[in-house]
Amino acid sequence: MHTPVMVDEVVEHLAPSRGGVFVDCTVGLGGHARALLDAGATRLIGIDRDRDALARAGEALTAFGDRVSLVHGDYRNLAEVLDERGIETVDGVLADLGVSSMQLDAPDRGFSFRRDEPLDMRMDRSSGATAAEMLAAADERTLADVIYEFGEERHARRVARAIVDAERTRRIETTGRLAEVVRRAIPRKGYSRIDPATRTFQAIRIWVNRELDGLDGFLSRTVGRLAPAGRLVVITFHSLEDRVVKHTLRALQTAGTITIRTKRPQVPTEAEIERNPRARSAKLRAATR
Ligand code: SAH
Repeated sequence: MHTPVMVDEVVEHLAPSRGGVFVDCTVGLGGHARALLDAGATRLIGIDRDRDALARAGEALTAFGDRVSLVHGDYRNLAEVLDERGIETVDGVLADLGVSSMQLDAPDRGFSFRRDEPLDMRMDRSSGATAAEMLAAADERTLADVIYEFGEERHARRVARAIVDAERTRRIETTGRLAEVVRRAIPRKGYSRIDPATRTFQAIRIWVNRELDGLDGFLSRTVGRLAPAGRLVVITFHSLEDRVVKHTLRALQTAGTITIRTKRPQVPTEAEIERNPRARSAKLRAATR
């Protein structure tokens, strides 16, 4: 199951009780969307690049009937999604970035190093290259950079070399084999609570899905579609992502376009983290047009 992260904070910032059109850029299983509709949003447009997620969101939101429109696509195309529907401005936008627990836990999506499954990792299985294809085509230098930057893995070079070497023997087709290769490449110093493959898997996932590409442009364009007093909430799960959000929102504030509502990023309470481990690294930033 996927529990929405910081749902009370999201509702407070977006203030759907004002009514109006709200966009959930990452509708996932519909948890936040449902909360926004329950709290008074007149209409909700839910976007996701994962068709499985959209189907689940559709089920979760049936009670709201035609107040909900679900769209398969990339939130970076939000402007087009609104244009196609003749919507000029919206009253609130939520982006809850990253992967859902449904994607992580699904037995065949290739995100998990705890099981052996085909190495896919695409959020949108209808387009783009799989992790297995991208690894097979990558050179060692690129791979090392990806693992270092997106995974904050100190041993990125070693891991990249090990992956390239392993690819030479036989293509890496499964999460189990990738995890083995990564674990063997990382020097073990005593007991560690987290699996040494964690950071590399995160890095490859971010790379395969181009998660950081165009995030700044997306935020600027989105703010441009907010009605006066419209609200924006972004939840990130990775320091690189949060940095982009922080800098972009600050630049938009300096330009006089928005007022930032969160001087520092908000984080979940201890109680929420205990209930929902996915919340652990969440950071929420909000702004008003
Ligand atoms: N807020 C949701 C959970 C979101 S999990 C809920 O309450 O249930 C993040 C979702 O964002 C995933 O379903 C993922 O497929 C989607 N996603 C990630 N990047 C995306 C992008 N660029 N465009 C559209 N959807 C994206």
